[in-house]
Amino acid sequence: MNRSPVALRVRSGTFRPPTLETLPAAVAANVAGIRARTRSTIMAVVKAGGYGHGAVTVAHAAVAAGAGWLGTTSIAEASVLRAAGLAVPILTWLHPSGIDAEAAAAARADVAVGSVDELGALIAQAAPPVRIHLHMDTGMSRGGCPRDRWDELIGLAQRGQQARRVRVAGVMGHLPLADRAEPAENAPAVARMHEALKAVRAAGLGPRVAHLAATSGTLNDPATHFGMVRVGAGLVGIDPSGTVAMHGASRLTAPVVHTAAVPAGTPVGYDGAYVTDRATHLGILPVGYADGIPRELAPRAGVEIHGRRFPVAGRVSMDQIVIDTGAESFPAGTSATVFGPDGGATPAVQDWARWAGTIPHTIVTGIGPRVKRSIA
Ligand SMILES: *Cc1c(COP(=O)(O)O)cnc(C)c1O
Repeated sequence: MNRSPVALRVRSGTFRPPTLETLPAAVAANVAGIRARTRSTIMAVVKAGGYGHGAVTVAHAAVAAGAGWLGTTSIAEASVLRAAGLAVPILTWLHPSGIDAEAAAAARADVAVGSVDELGALIAQAAPPVRIHLHMDTGMSRGGCPRDRWDELIGLAQRGQQARRVRVAGVMGHLPLADRAEPAENAPAVARMHEALKAVRAAGLGPRVAHLAATSGTLNDPATHFGMVRVGAGLVGIDPSGTVAMHGASRLTAPVVHTAAVPAGTPVGYDGAYVTDRATHLGILPVGYADGIPRELAPRAGVEIHGRRFPVAGRVSMDQIVIDTGAESFPAGTSATVFGPDGGATPAVQDWARWAGTIPHTIVTGIGPRVKRSIA
């Protein structure tokens, strides 16, 4: 129990170690499902390492399935996609270290600009002209230019474009109710977006590609689609509104590394938070909260082995979890599926989110670096 599972793994070297497998065919199926719901261009958002599934892998699958753009938060991420041979337009919008115009040009990345200061700093750089998307606050107050400064931003963009420092290529908003399926609730943001487009056009900067919706708006509300939709969660099978069934795009497996037969009344793990109510078998899986298994789990949490669900017993440790396998004793090396798209006894990412009281996004983006990656 107290032996390090990592050391065990290295010594034995015969098991398939904990592995997160990305399923590009599922990404392609999700893009096909999205295309059936919109005629707008699809931007595949692959920030946070493609929501933990591998940015390059997800980007290739999405583009092959018909996505016309890619989206990331930083120019550095855009450069990685270019180096991997992805040629479609890329937009970046957060710029954790400010916008480097030189780097944007080198990556052929469009950048979203959400404030007068940010645009001013960009124009001041002696660098090749940069394609920009004016990011207007459409009601979220998280990035985006506030309504009362739109005229200033648009005026500065006009002058920047005349001076050939920037080229206005798009207008961007964001829906504050990203996990709702109720179109009426999006109406104020949609109206704001139309207002922004009108202002940009009136300044002689339009028409440009306009984009507002993320996954939920794309799946549930055509009024939010405009010329392009920015889909991230949906690529990997997550509908934030929980209304549309999509294809899970990853599978996390871990081997049983140790098995023990224990009598009734045996406390398991830290604090003895779980006590066996009968003679049973316990299996150790070498994944813990350092690998992204949520520490705060409902008692229903479990994993799949050979088509059956077995509960997680007791506390999640840093490096391991214990499962209660009842009458079954699985030999070391037996593969358990922590989550996957398979249905039946196999938990989905959404099940883990429910057990942990969180959203599926945090599960898939939280899988740690010790877990091996593979592509199906
Ligand atoms: C992450 C993000 C998206 C994608 O959102 P999903 O709900 O994951 O599809 C779209 N736009 C912006 C600005 C984002 O930050």
